[in-house]
Amino acid sequence: MKLSAVAEKMRPSSTLSISSEANKKIAEGMDIINFSAGEPDFDTPTNIKEAAKAAIDNNFTHYTPYEGIEELRQAVADDLKRECGLDYSADQIVISNGSKHALKNAFTAILDPGDEVIVPAPYWNSYIDIINMTYGVPVIVNTKMGNGFRVKIPELEAALTDKTKALIINSPNNPSGMMYSEEELREIADFAVKNNIYVVSDELYKKLVYSKKLKHTSIASLGSEIYDRTIVVDGLSKSYAMTGWRVGYTASNREIAKAIANIQSNSTSNINSIAQAAALEALTGDQTEVENMIKAFEHRRDYIAQRISDIPLLSSLLPKGAFYLFVNVSRLYGGTVRGVEIKSSKDVAETLMGFYNVAVVSSEAFGYPDYIRISYATSMRDVVEGSNRIERYVKENF
Ligand code: GLU
Repeated sequence: MKLSAVAEKMRPSSTLSISSEANKKIAEGMDIINFSAGEPDFDTPTNIKEAAKAAIDNNFTHYTPYEGIEELRQAVADDLKRECGLDYSADQIVISNGSKHALKNAFTAILDPGDEVIVPAPYWNSYIDIINMTYGVPVIVNTKMGNGFRVKIPELEAALTDKTKALIINSPNNPSGMMYSEEELREIADFAVKNNIYVVSDELYKKLVYSKKLKHTSIASLGSEIYDRTIVVDGLSKSYAMTGWRVGYTASNREIAKAIANIQSNSTSNINSIAQAAALEALTGDQTEVENMIKAFEHRRDYIAQRISDIPLLSSLLPKGAFYLFVNVSRLYGGTVRGVEIKSSKDVAETLMGFYNVAVVSSEAFGYPDYIRISYATSMRDVVEGSNRIERYVKENF
């Protein structure tokens, strides 16, 4: 029997696969530096865990409204106001099982089969599969390193067809760490309004910005027309070290929010009630541990960016946000590592793992050639040791 066309197109998430392979080897006792998945090494802050324990003790263990409890949706709306100046009310927020689920809800709500979604590359790997899963057609637009991996309007115009339904924007970006300026977002907003398309704005890393001078801007905050056609997607996994709790959300106009809530009511119902209690504490409770994590990420970014830029033949831009360093490895091509000829970033990633025990993700996974992605959401010990190994890899072989 044949599987569905959607199932046949589906690939396993490369970031998760590489990371679970690395973690399996670590569990077997191998000394692997895992720079693959973007997962904070920090434990979930204590106040959040206590709130979850209290929820269990208070028997907060039944169904909740499928769109999420009112207090949590209000806390999300307050956070969006505080961080981005956005005006949403609780009925415009739907709490989902992580931001992947939020993306799937969003695309299910707006795409008809065959509708095209413009995806600037390098992109986070799961966008493509989620768009495919919701019967859309991803249209990939390659950005240029010279433009800081930020998509330009003529590139968007070249990708536009009469089937274009939406555009995905991700700032701060996974995997490049780049951010759009307010001015650039205004141009993108004008493009979306003029061409009557939706914007799905993935703002998962908005709290992980590493310069006092930089400020995250949400495209939805740039006027009523763009506000109305944007679905903001976010979650608590990265900023609150809550990857396992699976809490994400969408913020949108009421019509879309209602459609998303209906979709969710018939698919997963509410997300886990305990995770909702934890998320409420995360957003409304003490933020000290979160602020400390952000400082630690910044310190690691500064360290690893310097170390990698000191290695001959490697180059990267300084990431402005998120926790990834995107490193150009194309000057290694033509060399060999223990008999393996290096012709692509995949070869670099495989030989780094195979011979130096460092797990990274090659940029092919992100729809872009010639780079590897290093996640520095790992301990400082691993950041230092991983930098040493990458340095040895280059010096010993090229
Ligand atoms: N989003 C993280 C990453 O890019 C975690 C793994 C995943 O969900 O892709 O590594």
